Amino acid sequence: MRNQLKHYINGEWIESTGSRVIEVINPATEEVMGKISSGTEEDLDKAVKAARSVFPAFSRSTKEERIEWLEKIVQGYEARKEELIEVMTDELGAPLSVSEEVHYPMGVGHFKQAIESLSDYSFSEDRGGHTLLKESIGVSGLITPWNFPTNQLSTKIASAIAAGSPVILKPASKTPFAAIIVAEIIHEAGLPKGAFNLVNGSGSVIGNGISSHPDIDFVSFTGSGGVGETIMQKAAETKKKVALELGGKSPVVVLDDANVEEAAKTAISHITKNTGQVCSAGTRVLIPESMKEEFEQKVVELLPNYPVGDPRKEGVATGPLVSKDQWETVQSYIEKGEKEAKLLVGGAGKPEGLPTGYYAKPTFFTDVSNDSVIAQEEIFGPVSVIITYSDVEDAIEKANDTKYGLAGYVVGQDPVQLSYVASSIRAGRIVVNNAETDFNGPFGGYKESGIGREWGDFGIEEYLEVKSVHGMPKS
Ligand code: NAP
Repeated sequence: MRNQLKHYINGEWIESTGSRVIEVINPATEEVMGKISSGTEEDLDKAVKAARSVFPAFSRSTKEERIEWLEKIVQGYEARKEELIEVMTDELGAPLSVSEEVHYPMGVGHFKQAIESLSDYSFSEDRGGHTLLKESIGVSGLITPWNFPTNQLSTKIASAIAAGSPVILKPASKTPFAAIIVAEIIHEAGLPKGAFNLVNGSGSVIGNGISSHPDIDFVSFTGSGGVGETIMQKAAETKKKVALELGGKSPVVVLDDANVEEAAKTAISHITKNTGQVCSAGTRVLIPESMKEEFEQKVVELLPNYPVGDPRKEGVATGPLVSKDQWETVQSYIEKGEKEAKLLVGGAGKPEGLPTGYYAKPTFFTDVSNDSVIAQEEIFGPVSVIITYSDVEDAIEKANDTKYGLAGYVVGQDPVQLSYVASSIRAGRIVVNNAETDFNGPFGGYKESGIGREWGDFGIEEYLEVKSVHGMPKS
């Protein structure tokens, strides 16, 4: 049992002022794997005070000091690799291979990238008529979701340290233990007291508290659109800046010269990796009418190569969903899909032989209309829809016919068509032919997928204010 009933405030682990606890459930076993404290507004106030008091010194720390702290965090993160992998598998249900090959490197990758981006970054610029200064935005509240237990908090913390902005982190209460390990790593890295604080608790108390706190200058949130809206409303009371990384329903545009097998593998990996609980997952597959049948056959043939099962078992590609609630939500969408479209493979209920654990069947629907519920709403589970298109213009129109704009994927061969489609999809990140992730590439959404950008230099700039000084004496 992993219990941590304290919060990390002003450089030490301290008791909560409240006595309520939150149980954390292992989604593969449905058993309680540990408990955290359900923090109070008083706990949050203490963290905000600590962050405020270190702000003047932390915001004036040098680039070299910040790089040294980030380097120590990278060393600490690497030293605790095995433990982080195990914890993420237990709290999220990600197969061990996914924790090792996806979650672990994404977490540490942002700290490494921040070192690189910061090394080349200039916080002042002579622009002729004035001097531009880029200064820390102030105390920043970070609210993160459960689907990547270290990825989102790492990009936020790394950028904030690079910018000299003290933070208060509230991780998702479903997956708090990887965040607690990161807090221990940051403690060992020797940041000034108060520069990093972690307060565990519910969204309704600590999350709301962060959004409306008068002494917090900026909120960086990753999560659902509904909560993002609440955060914006609360933040409006004190006119604080918000950055929102929200949901998506991203298209995978398969061009008519694509290798059908590669296209099917791409579509399958989007709903099996992390059990489809990925904000940027490509869950709307757009294929030429002429390719439909062959594509469907390939999906049905290849899907068994991504087996669902115990995330600790070797060879398992798809773990359980994170919680009972998430399982029920996914089931209700599958049931809706069965009424709206044709079930190609998968369907409602648990996969055979897995009665315990929040397991769902990877599911593809076909003959789907782009205006149906399953094609428009984010399901956040292992469910994809196949939609046909007549020509490239039709594909682009359908790809963009969504309220979201987080990501888009293009599979094919002709460089002219690939570039044309990539530049025509209205979304913040486009991946052509499964290209590798560049940690310096900005991440964020168009339309209802969010406001602002994370990762690399764009991520650092979220934590900075811009000042123009006119008549600055030349030194
Ligand atoms: P969520 O329910 O919005 O929760 C996200 C975080 O917000 C959690 O820490 C949650 O706390 C907290 N929260 C809940 N209510 C709050 C409130 N009223 N005020 C402030 N904070 C509050 O989202 P989720 O279910 O964890 O994550 C799934 C969603 O995140 C999906 O929509 C997905 O697309 C999106 N997402 C987006 C990105 C991106 O980068 N664009 C990345 C990953 C996920 P508790 O849960 O602890 O109560």
